[in-house]
Amino acid sequence: MRGMQVPSHVEYARATSIGHALSLLTSPEARPLAGGHSLIPMMKLRLAQPELVVDITGLRELAYITLGKGAEGGDELRIGALTTHAALLGDDLVDEMFPILTDAERVIADPIVRNWGTVGGSLCQADPSEDLSAAFSAARATAVIATASGSRTVPVRDFHLGPYQTVIEPGELLTEIRVPVRDGTGSAYEKVERRAGDWSIAAVGAVLTIEDNAVMTAGIGLTAVGAPHFAATEAEDHLTGRPATAESFAAAAELAAAHCRPVADQRGPEDYKRALVVELAQRALARAAARAGGER
Ligand code: FAD
Repeated sequence: MRGMQVPSHVEYARATSIGHALSLLTSPEARPLAGGHSLIPMMKLRLAQPELVVDITGLRELAYITLGKGAEGGDELRIGALTTHAALLGDDLVDEMFPILTDAERVIADPIVRNWGTVGGSLCQADPSEDLSAAFSAARATAVIATASGSRTVPVRDFHLGPYQTVIEPGELLTEIRVPVRDGTGSAYEKVERRAGDWSIAAVGAVLTIEDNAVMTAGIGLTAVGAPHFAATEAEDHLTGRPATAESFAAAAELAAAHCRPVADQRGPEDYKRALVVELAQRALARAAARAGGER
């Protein structure tokens, strides 16, 4: 079965509005189709066998990047779920405010996947190696989910229930990611891959807010190394309130590596992946700190 490369029978419907999509998605056997760069390969391998595919690519109202006001009055970057990787990569506002996303996008797949694949599809695929999941976890972003009765918000750190599993229920659609904007913030993403365009062997994202050379808030995201919710919480706790120095970053990096759970696979053994976390965390933290201080 696994090598068959032909999907089983499936119905297809094209959503003409968000409401239309939600009504089509009420069956547990229905799945939204965004860029299709994960769903279609999964269907060909019969790892996914939806009865109905709901094509949401026509919902252009879900492709945008804007600045808005958050619930607590602060600014937030709002990214529509149908924003492609390529659009995120090419956006100047994103690069200025959250270079972690630009860094990550530069090393996600290749131009063809980036032209089709979407931010929402990436998060909803919930692959443990998905770079944007770790980047948004580091940035403490919030997911906005449309439901039949309106919408609900879920912190990205609570969005993934496990590999290939999210909190999205039948009849719901991820519509937006919100990233809180704070003054004095710098961010960066560091990834090691076997060859250009490949998935991470390991990667680390960092988002630091720094005041008077002290770390006020720290977000550290880990990709492909089995970190719960893609986050290195022990390292973040250690760093908060400490001076933004190489020594603090090294200690945090050791904690991140100690508390994640990489598994040996074709990309490398466990100890190699932990060693990468130590190195990449220090690089990401140092670069995030430099950017918080105004370096571009
Ligand atoms: P789809 O395939 O359309 O959907 C994926 C899943 O999400 C499906 O279950 C679908 O039903 C669901 N879904 C989609 N949109 C929504 C929504 N708005 N609400 C609810 N559910 C939704 N990713 C990386 O992070 N790093 C890499 O290096 C990388 N390399 C890749 C290399 C190749 C060759 C390929 C094919 C993919 C690679 N990817 C990589 C994956 C890619 O980034 C995303 O997983 C892919 O683009 C998913 O986005 P999509 O829009 O194509 O989603």
